[in-house]
Amino acid sequence: MSGHTQNLTLAIIKPDAFGSGKIGGVLGVLEEAGFKVRGSRVVRLDDRAAQAFYAVHSERPFFDSLVEFMTSGPCMPLALEHERAVPHLRDVIGATDPAEAKPGTVRALFAESKERNAIHASDSDDNARQELGFFFGHVDLIGAR
Ligand code: ATP
Ligand code: MG
Repeated sequence: MSGHTQNLTLAIIKPDAFGSGKIGGVLGVLEEAGFKVRGSRVVRLDDRAAQAFYAVHSERPFFDSLVEFMTSGPCMPLALEHERAVPHLRDVIGATDPAEAKPGTVRALFAESKERNAIHASDSDDNARQELGFFFGHVDLIGAR
């Protein structure tokens, strides 16, 4: 059994999906999967914010390209509620590389490539709390427990 217990997680509709008219499609898959939207914003990350958000990947060869992509246009952070929200959202978004993502997942449906892959999702309860604070620390999330 995993230790995931919290019912809120953080997603970001990335600049590729945001910029190509796929917000509605992505939200449709998330709602169909039972998620309730408890917070949403539209933001344009600058280099500092994108580097800070993906700091865990700062030594990876794709880091500079990832930061360039994430700053290339607006994106949409979402606070999403569901039982065991973190593992459920990871199931619903699919594998990082859309070629490996299961049919019906957000990335199978909407991602362009392993980098331009439509959506981010927190990968642990601790990271979900931290990432929710990054984008929603200053607001009261409706229904958050
Ligand atoms: P995310 O953290 O965005 O939810 P993930 O957890 O599935 O994605 P990570 O390994 O955390 O995957 O990588 C973060 C992001 O960096 C990926 O979503 C993708 O946009 C980019 N990325 C990861 N690996 C590669 C790669 N080999 N080449 C190019 N981009 C990559
Ligand atoms: Mg990740």
